[in-house]
Amino acid sequence: MTFDAAALANAATRKLRAYDPGHDLPALRKRFGKVLAELGSNENPLGPSPHAIVAIEAALPEIFRYPDPQGGSLKAALAKHLGADTAQITLGNGSHELLMLIAQCFADADTSIAFSEFGFAVFPIATAAAGAQPIRVPALPRDHATMPLGHDLNAMVRAIRADTRIVYLANPNNPTGTWFDDAALEGFLACVPATTLVVIDEAYHEFVTAAGLSSALRLLPRYPNLIVTRTFSKAYALAGLRIGYAVSSPSVAAVLERLRESFNVNSLALASTEAALNDQGHIVKCRDWNFSEREYLAKRLHAQGLRTLPSQTNFVLVDFGRDAAPVEAALFEHGVIVRLMSGYGLPDCLRISVGSRAENERLLDALP
Ligand SMILES: *Cc1c(COP(=O)(O)O)cnc(C)c1O
Repeated sequence: MTFDAAALANAATRKLRAYDPGHDLPALRKRFGKVLAELGSNENPLGPSPHAIVAIEAALPEIFRYPDPQGGSLKAALAKHLGADTAQITLGNGSHELLMLIAQCFADADTSIAFSEFGFAVFPIATAAAGAQPIRVPALPRDHATMPLGHDLNAMVRAIRADTRIVYLANPNNPTGTWFDDAALEGFLACVPATTLVVIDEAYHEFVTAAGLSSALRLLPRYPNLIVTRTFSKAYALAGLRIGYAVSSPSVAAVLERLRESFNVNSLALASTEAALNDQGHIVKCRDWNFSEREYLAKRLHAQGLRTLPSQTNFVLVDFGRDAAPVEAALFEHGVIVRLMSGYGLPDCLRISVGSRAENERLLDALP
């Protein structure tokens, strides 16, 4: 009998496909050199706080040691920064790991997990990996006057079943850039049963400038079933180090701790994020710069007759009104990398990260 590893995989894994890494970026960097404009992964082109780099260099001599399995020093800094308790914080190898861990700890084949159409791609993967039933809730209609393609929280409430163990919501959302405000979230949480965990993914929180959109953290004292996730990959510009965190009730954190790999966060990530956290001036600078550069990019795109969705993130979803794959291919030939949205069911859209001014100009010049 021939060996067939795929047939031996467990039921949940048999249904999964490996992550599509998209273009081979290392090869493209060689081909295009400095003129490559990487606008596909929502990285912050301003880079991290210089203090983070100094902290990495200072931590290097101890690299032969295992990292602190508790991440105690960073957790203390985070607790102070967030006004939370260290017992509420779980550190992850990127927030991606935490989103997966939450499903692994709380869901199984006897439960369901709800998320929105056009929600973050990791949510259905976490659901499938846990073997749970996915409940995909339609987004707000495209012609909706205020927030097209945004999460429909009223429909989400109606979709929650007795066996729904988790609801995943990104606010602001990737790939749409859309958001729901404080009043909408409070109304939603009041309707969710205590047997359903609500995960609010705030990966783009540090970029937010809109009034009436504050962090869900303020609601944790009232809702022990609430989990807020954040990342150092976006505004903090430390994507290469892979570190994020979850803030929850201590009892939820204690459950996550059972399955968390003990050394999941490396020592350079621990040291540098603590330094980055203490340099909030840099984050304010990144937020202000991102706001004005995103406005500039959107204005220039509108001048070319293109439509963009409102965004509180460091990217814009651009509606080309036709199949966007040839546009993506033309940009690619000019060394401008953007993200196709066909996998999300939005084949006429591209997601474009806010790059440096030079990268944004290269994109605008290369648009067919
Ligand atoms: C980028 C992103 C993340 C962050 O992932 P990391 O694993 O922390 O790098 C999480 N959620 C959303 C919605 C994102 O866009």
